[in-house]
Amino acid sequence: MNEIRKIVHLSFSPETSGKPVVCNIIKLYDLCFNILKAHITPREVGEMILEINGLEKAVSDAMDYLKEHGVKITPVGQKIRKDEASCMHCGVCTALCRPRALSVDRATWKVTFDPEKCVACGLCVKVCPVKAMETQLENGTI
Ligand code: SF4
Ligand code: SF4
Repeated sequence: MNEIRKIVHLSFSPETSGKPVVCNIIKLYDLCFNILKAHITPREVGEMILEINGLEKAVSDAMDYLKEHGVKITPVGQKIRKDEASCMHCGVCTALCRPRALSVDRATWKVTFDPEKCVACGLCVKVCPVKAMETQLENGTI
């Protein structure tokens, strides 16, 4: 069974923000975790960006557990967007993108974006000369 790393954006409703659901998944599914960002106040809307490491099945079960308990989960890469109309495929961003979410397609020499690999570091947003990379994250980065 594969060990995987996943970074997710969690949204908590006022009903779920006071519950220890994140502690529960760590214990129940034997996961390692790192809270990259959190803004949680009991009985208010909250958010957290969580890095999880564990066996693929355990991570998947943990995501199901969170959903069943009313937590909205978004892969963090979906908070980063590439505007294809603006991108001029200069390749500057690919040199900085460590997880290779941005890479050059050798067949077409176009720069492609894979949100599944993106860890939302925000570096591409800062360096893109034509502002083709956009972020919906507060402060632009995790
Ligand atoms: S730096 Fe901007 S313009 Fe250049 S390839 Fe990346 S997204 Fe496209
Ligand atoms: S935010 Fe970071 S990881 Fe995501 S595409 Fe940009 S440079 Fe790569």
